[in-house]
Amino acid sequence: MLSPLEMFAIGVGPSSSHTVGPMKAGLEFANLVLSDEKSSAKVARIQANLYGSLALTGEGHGTFLAVINGLAGQHPKTIDPDTIYSRVDEIKSTKKLRLADKLFVAFDYDVDLLIHKDQFLPEHANGMRFLALDERGNTLLEEEYFSIGGGFILDKKQISERKASEGSSGVEVPYPFKTAKEMTEHCAKNNMTIAELVLANETASRPKDAVVKDALEIAEVMRYSINRGLKHDGILPGGLNVKRRAPNLYAQLNKKDLNLISDQDRRLLAMTYAIAVNEENASFSRVVTAPTNGSAGTIPGVLEYYRNFYLGVTDDRIVEFILTAGAIGVLYKYNASISAAEVGCQGEIGVACSMAAGALTAVMGGNVQQVEKSAEIAMEHCLGMTCDPIDGLVQIPCIERNGVAASKAIDIAKLSLLENEPGKVSLDAVIFTMMETGKDMSSRYKETALAGLAVNVVAC
Ligand code: SF4
Repeated sequence: MLSPLEMFAIGVGPSSSHTVGPMKAGLEFANLVLSDEKSSAKVARIQANLYGSLALTGEGHGTFLAVINGLAGQHPKTIDPDTIYSRVDEIKSTKKLRLADKLFVAFDYDVDLLIHKDQFLPEHANGMRFLALDERGNTLLEEEYFSIGGGFILDKKQISERKASEGSSGVEVPYPFKTAKEMTEHCAKNNMTIAELVLANETASRPKDAVVKDALEIAEVMRYSINRGLKHDGILPGGLNVKRRAPNLYAQLNKKDLNLISDQDRRLLAMTYAIAVNEENASFSRVVTAPTNGSAGTIPGVLEYYRNFYLGVTDDRIVEFILTAGAIGVLYKYNASISAAEVGCQGEIGVACSMAAGALTAVMGGNVQQVEKSAEIAMEHCLGMTCDPIDGLVQIPCIERNGVAASKAIDIAKLSLLENEPGKVSLDAVIFTMMETGKDMSSRYKETALAGLAVNVVAC
């Protein structure tokens, strides 16, 4: 089954579906060409075609930069964010690209990067088609990729099977689950928490130390993004002239003695942490998809709140937080979507809020029923949330929305701990409803920047 830890991918901003996925797709195609004897011997030029939402909001989301960096051999986890622009500038000026960082081929930015704003590939709103051409312009190799959210990509064959190219290890696990019902039944039958269940599954294929190390690395990169964001002021890139707010907010709220901070200010600090991460995300910096880049701040904001304002926070508790959040995310990945191009912002901030609320409930001592209820309440009150980023940039409403979701997740976790009975609405029911709502949503509200705030606010 899909690993809950794969709901978190260390990468760069600003968008998992429009930056992380396309960079991976570019790299995968470059490696495909070089691994094919005939193509690698004759390839002279590469072309990249972007369709649908990637074409409509790709510029603001960094898709064009991402695809080219991917073709040039860069991976979102390891790329130096400071080289993203300079590498593309060099390719633009030389009209040459070093494919997979190994073989020079022609690539004219103005000719070979084709943006099809009026065309959607039938399989998914985030489609890409890459071509490897010989000297005469004949096609040697062609492949389509689809960025399905959270940095996951599928090729044409995989999308027809709807099978993730990453994540599904094929390893048999002792407690497989795809729904909340299956997950909670395993917990009840075996007297386990959700995190214990995940750990048992993960250790079916690798040592516990490796799982713990991965979870703590995710948490550390989250903290790194917060700390960077709290220090960086100025204007965000993209031309919308959005001012970075996190340092000023932090300066007003931060007190030397954490005990002197009121409950209200603690929640405001959680919002500030979340805003800090998403300001970093909007600046092409290092963040963790959680479960996407647009929603990268919510879970770190809540985790940092927990770390700073609760006693007895150990590495074990942090691992529990990450594993529980990941398990909740997997339920959405299996049964709905984390792609805003498919379901709007419900799939990004909605899912992040649900994961954060459930995870916080767990580490604050909630039982499995309370965790499920928290996750359900969080999504129930994000149903119908649209995606309408101004200028196609992951800035407004995205950055502030992460802060609001972090605060909401904290309140929901506390509310859930006050009650110990199942709600009328199950987590599975709300996940199903989210997907159905997404299907009914006008495509203009699904990461196209063709409606909502994107058309009603003048960008300047
Ligand atoms: S509005 Fe929501 S879904 Fe859309 S780009 Fe912003 S964070 Fe992502």
